[in-house]
Amino acid sequence: MGAKPTVLHMGNNGDSYLCNAEPQNWADKYLTDEFARNLPKCPECMDAYGIKHGSDMAQNMENHLENYEPAVEIVAPPIVNNVKTLRMYLNT
Ligand SMILES: [Zn+2]
Repeated sequence: MGAKPTVLHMGNNGDSYLCNAEPQNWADKYLTDEFARNLPKCPECMDAYGIKHGSDMAQNMENHLENYEPAVEIVAPPIVNNVKTLRMYLNT
């Protein structure tokens, strides 16, 4: 079970998104690099990144993402695993 992600959020120290959206539990079939690469970037995360690091850095980030150089943190399966673990913990 899990949601179909519609945007690619950017991580904020690994435990939340820059835009503060609720972390989604991605369905296993969407946990592929190829799928994540084709998602549009979350515009709110991009805005938050620009505010935090400046618009030059935000532009650099966009260039990195477009060239898919994993020099920047992209929220993908590891975050989802954390969410699952936390939910399991809370349910016990
Ligand atoms: Zn976001």
